[in-house]
Amino acid sequence: MRLEPRRAAAELDPYTPGKAAEDDDHSLASNEPPIAASPSVRAAVVRALDRLHRYPDPLASELRGRLGKELDVDPEQILVGNGSDELVYLLCLAYLRPGGVVCCADPPYRLHELVPRLVGGTVRRVPMLDWSHDLRAMAAVPCDLAFVCNPHNPTGTVVRAGALEDFAARARAGLIVVDEAYLDFADEPSRLTVLHLARQSQLVVIRTFSKLLGLAGARIGYLVGPLEVVDLLRRIRPPFSVNVLAQAAAVAALSDLEQRHRSREHVLARRPLVQRIITEAGYRCIPSQANFICVLTDREDDLVRRLWERGISVRPGKTLGMPGSVRVTIPSTHGVELLRKALGTVAPV
Ligand SMILES: *Cc1c(COP(=O)(O)O)cnc(C)c1O
Repeated sequence: MRLEPRRAAAELDPYTPGKAAEDDDHSLASNEPPIAASPSVRAAVVRALDRLHRYPDPLASELRGRLGKELDVDPEQILVGNGSDELVYLLCLAYLRPGGVVCCADPPYRLHELVPRLVGGTVRRVPMLDWSHDLRAMAAVPCDLAFVCNPHNPTGTVVRAGALEDFAARARAGLIVVDEAYLDFADEPSRLTVLHLARQSQLVVIRTFSKLLGLAGARIGYLVGPLEVVDLLRRIRPPFSVNVLAQAAAVAALSDLEQRHRSREHVLARRPLVQRIITEAGYRCIPSQANFICVLTDREDDLVRRLWERGISVRPGKTLGMPGSVRVTIPSTHGVELLRKALGTVAPV
């Protein structure tokens, strides 16, 4: 028989990762935090090496217990995944019917459109209003799944919890998925999160250890949702997708409140500086509540090239479904200085 891929698979645009820069200070392409993970993570991972001959706990019970306490939710409502990316795959596999519809923003977070297409769904992109989710328009779209990213990637904009509550009440979606990967970098996370809705309605919240907690390389994230959703996803997931080292790293990272505070404060203190540097160089920025800033420019390639000539890697908007923009991660303190020099901003920042 001839080898022939499924059409949806063959037609998928490959994911374009950020270009690798020479060091962390020059890496402004992938929204990784410049503050390293907690030192206790190293010790926990070294201890976990002794358990590498054993399969991991399929349900990551220790981690779910800790998360349950911290978030005040029943651990049975938590599912841990191999990065929050895996959870998006599972949600689409479980709830997107053949030919079913997924609703997301335009521009979307890439994965929220790529995975539904792979699974055979149709994606309805709803144009953003002033770079913010148009929840009223999204609520009118009948769909199996609606994705809201809050704060949004690639724009860095947010919607208030109240607006999401209205949306959840009115949306014609089977299940609403709210991705809170960047929540910790918002000025007031408590005014944005809809974790409370994940207990009682057809809504799940996705979070990750990749951003604030600095574990992007370990691949671990989680969702909180209604019991029936978590039950179904448990049945279809690869049972050992979250490895021993990642589970140990996540438990340790969660306990280090000091590191979490520093990671957040680093971003909050430098976000206005980075915005000023870019604005003074003559570019327009979308005000951001995340650990990156979205620069609007009709000279996208020029800006990317100009920075790359100085070794700085940023993300071209066209690789993120948002041509005419460039996404710049809030870097280390030294990285901010490198950016300032590269853009020739002379005014003190
Ligand atoms: C970075 C990011 C994540 C994190 O994905 P992981 O698979 O957990 O690393 C999730 N959602 C969005 C929108 C992101 O930008």
